[in-house]
Amino acid sequence: MALHIPSHHQKDDDLCYNTITINPLNKYKIPEHENNPQIIYQLISDELLLDGNSKQNLATFCQTYSDTEIHKLMDKCIDKNMIDKDEYPQTAEIEERCVNIISDLWHGKKGQSIGTSTTGSSEACMLAGMAMKWRWKIKRQENNKNCNKPNLVCGPVQVCWHKFAKYWDIELREIQMEKDSYISTSKKIIELCDENTIGVVLTLGTTFTGQYEPIKDICNALDIFEKNTSLNIDIHVDAASGGFLAPFCNPDLIWDFRLERVKSISTSGHKFGLTPLGCGWVIWKDKKYLPDDLIFNVNYLGGNMPTFAINFSRPGGQIICQYYNLIRLGKEGYKRIQSNCYKIGKKLADQIKTLNLFDIIYESDPKIGIPAVTWKLKENISVPFTLYDLSDLLRERGWQIPTYSLPKNCENETIQRVLIKYGSSYDFIELLFNDLKNGINKLTQFPPSNKQIKKGGFNHGK
Ligand SMILES: *Cc1c(COP(=O)(O)O)cnc(C)c1O
Repeated sequence: MALHIPSHHQKDDDLCYNTITINPLNKYKIPEHENNPQIIYQLISDELLLDGNSKQNLATFCQTYSDTEIHKLMDKCIDKNMIDKDEYPQTAEIEERCVNIISDLWHGKKGQSIGTSTTGSSEACMLAGMAMKWRWKIKRQENNKNCNKPNLVCGPVQVCWHKFAKYWDIELREIQMEKDSYISTSKKIIELCDENTIGVVLTLGTTFTGQYEPIKDICNALDIFEKNTSLNIDIHVDAASGGFLAPFCNPDLIWDFRLERVKSISTSGHKFGLTPLGCGWVIWKDKKYLPDDLIFNVNYLGGNMPTFAINFSRPGGQIICQYYNLIRLGKEGYKRIQSNCYKIGKKLADQIKTLNLFDIIYESDPKIGIPAVTWKLKENISVPFTLYDLSDLLRERGWQIPTYSLPKNCENETIQRVLIKYGSSYDFIELLFNDLKNGINKLTQFPPSNKQIKKGGFNHGK
């Protein structure tokens, strides 16, 4: 491999390069001696080529394209520790502005709502979940009732809620999916609620199909439930994706703090918030829904600061970039970008329909979900391959299109999903469709010999 290393000591460096590249790098033990940074940089960069390119990863909900200005801001902020509000007061100020802007987008009231940035939706959900548990516990204790058996009622949730339930010792009561019914219904949710329910979690854009759950309907049902039982159960909305979509592309959808029962909302800045990885937000409608007991005041970085977070030190750049996006794009820019994604998704769904092989489960519709398409093989159709085979073949062209089975009760249904994100153009998705079509032809002509059905092959944690 030819590698030019500009240096006054070209010969020494060539020698060094040879010595390093002719031997294996240390992989599991720290080396005894120093190495030339440029050479190590090159070798690591080479290795990273095997990661594939994120733009073709249509499995992830996370942002895979960033403006040049975002790269520059991230670089400027590389040393900013967002927890150190004394050292970096302006980063703290910008975080506060983001909380206000996002709260306002979700119809929170200025001066009432409270919130924080997080590393992503998972941390945001943990914090919201803890606040729900504490509120429930305080209420129970006031009424001299035991707090031994908390449960959380939810629709088909992302894995972070399974973690929350396990780590905080809470029974997770997830509704059962049924064929052609992949989201919560008020009936199913109400059936699972009782006096030990710390709250109901509903998702604005589920992981499995991309659909919005009927949050308003379920609020109404919980109102009736309260009349009948005097149990007043709060809702948290996991708006990991939808929190940055519905306000721009479906502003009439009532899912947020306009609903009395919705007490907290979380989102991922690094999904449709268009921010680099490592950014989430959680907001409570009113300070009173965030129990004081959960807030820690620390003064060892100078100044006194209240914190509610699982991490302590955390990079500040993502917060700055969130602010950049909010200010640069405005409502108009977010709407333009996300609407394009929806349209491109719809086009892909229409193309997939022409193949006459698949039933579209959900097709990129701003009225009912996120810019995604999910589909499964038609039931009455027999093909000599599985969707897993098709995913594998597309992978050879660099595309990551996940195939997965649905949760309990629908585990025999295998589906595929594509997310359309900022940076995916019409032509780019057309290239995908052509590869999909060619892949199907190839698999039909040369059926895979080993027709194994893989289980649980895809991790939704992304
Ligand atoms: C992605 C996602 C999460 C987890 O979010 P991270 O930002 O990856 O931690 C939680 N809930 C839903 C609905 C998601 O889509």
